[in-house]
Amino acid sequence: MARYTDSVCKLCRNEGVKLFLKGTRCYTTKCAIERRRYPTGQHGQERKKQSEYAVQLREKQKVRRSYGVLEKQFASYYAEANRQKAVPTGLRILQLLETRLDNIVHRSGLCPSRAQARQYILHGHILVDGKKVSTPSVILKPGQVVSPSEKSKDLFKAMIEANPSAGAPPWVSADLEGMKVSIQNLPAREDLDPTVKEALIVEFYSR
Ligand code: SF4
Repeated sequence: MARYTDSVCKLCRNEGVKLFLKGTRCYTTKCAIERRRYPTGQHGQERKKQSEYAVQLREKQKVRRSYGVLEKQFASYYAEANRQKAVPTGLRILQLLETRLDNIVHRSGLCPSRAQARQYILHGHILVDGKKVSTPSVILKPGQVVSPSEKSKDLFKAMIEANPSAGAPPWVSADLEGMKVSIQNLPAREDLDPTVKEALIVEFYSR
């Protein structure tokens, strides 16, 4: 599958925000955006007026990149969210992204970044309800229990201790000593990042 392989710090600089793609480094003074808070490239420091389309596109790209999702999959989340009329489309997109297995492994504090969480899942270190799951994009339901496999517990213990972002959100139940994590309920809008403008993402795909 195609994957972005260039420097991930460039993505943060081009979106103008920290996307926290590099784990512990993102919390240090080595963070690229702390040192150069302007887009990459020769014309990076020029001020440009953005069209309505560009604003929608940037918001979509920012969210897509921060969750490490490819375009096709992100578009499929919009399509699925748009079919479910009970929840506003923008909120449902965010709920789908938040309940991905790789995101829960990261959010719970087991791993310092989604990229690392994805690697560990792909390499078979993570169990869901006691069974090995090696697909990072699996959408979890409330009540399902995520834990490292028995042989991986020491690895995760070391990661938890060194993780500066450890601390699960209120809708995730995380027993990091017992290494058991589960979703208590789907996140409400107020539980999610207030800086995300999901309405722009919906407008982008509704064009
Ligand atoms: Fe983004 Fe982290 Fe790189 Fe900083 S260190 S620019 S937050 S990926």
